[in-house]
Amino acid sequence: MHSISALGQAIGQLFYPHTCAGCGSDKLKQDSSICWYCLSELPATGFVDIKDNPAERLLWGRLPFFAAHAGFYLNRDSLMQQLLYQFKYKHQQALATQLGSLLGEQLKNSSRWNIEALVPVPLHPKKIRQRGYNQAAVICKGIAQQLDLPVIEGVLLRKSMNVSQTRLGRTARWENSRSQYGIDHPHRLRNKRVLLVDDVLTTGATLESCGSLLAAIPGVEVSVATLCISAL
Ligand SMILES: [Zn+2]
Repeated sequence: MHSISALGQAIGQLFYPHTCAGCGSDKLKQDSSICWYCLSELPATGFVDIKDNPAERLLWGRLPFFAAHAGFYLNRDSLMQQLLYQFKYKHQQALATQLGSLLGEQLKNSSRWNIEALVPVPLHPKKIRQRGYNQAAVICKGIAQQLDLPVIEGVLLRKSMNVSQTRLGRTARWENSRSQYGIDHPHRLRNKRVLLVDDVLTTGATLESCGSLLAAIPGVEVSVATLCISAL
């Protein structure tokens, strides 16, 4: 016999069915946004253990970094593209957290990584208002579930948020002036090994701007991880 909560859940599913964000199947665990089949189909890159992997090669010479990783391949009309669309435009925040957790699992199982704090690439405040969240910050939340690390926001900022130029060193100030990004309260990251996180690695321009700013903070060592690498 159904309990009241099971009944409530069944009624709720009539109106808001719990379905896989990848294929639409309703055969999935209640606490998962993706069915078992789609999870098994996600195209992991395997970069996490590999020095000089394609993500690192893309960023070579553009910013000082310790290691770089992209968790999954993003191909045109692929499952990953569908998932990305779901969490960027369909308010699927739990999906972004779950994918972040998968990325965190990859990092946890590799001995190459020695990270102390997670920093998401900041989103323009107007976009946060539209979307309701910064997807890179939600991915960080998922990584933090695996690695138990603090997510530090409010240091790396989008420029429009009135960044103070006077606190920066000369190099950072120059970087700051040509970048859409800026740094505030740099002491919060000083002497830390930081993982800069974004959803997609495409040209690397965003990571170059953000990572260079972070690396200009005294004692900061930057590594980079994105959920996927674009082959589009
Ligand atoms: Zn599925």
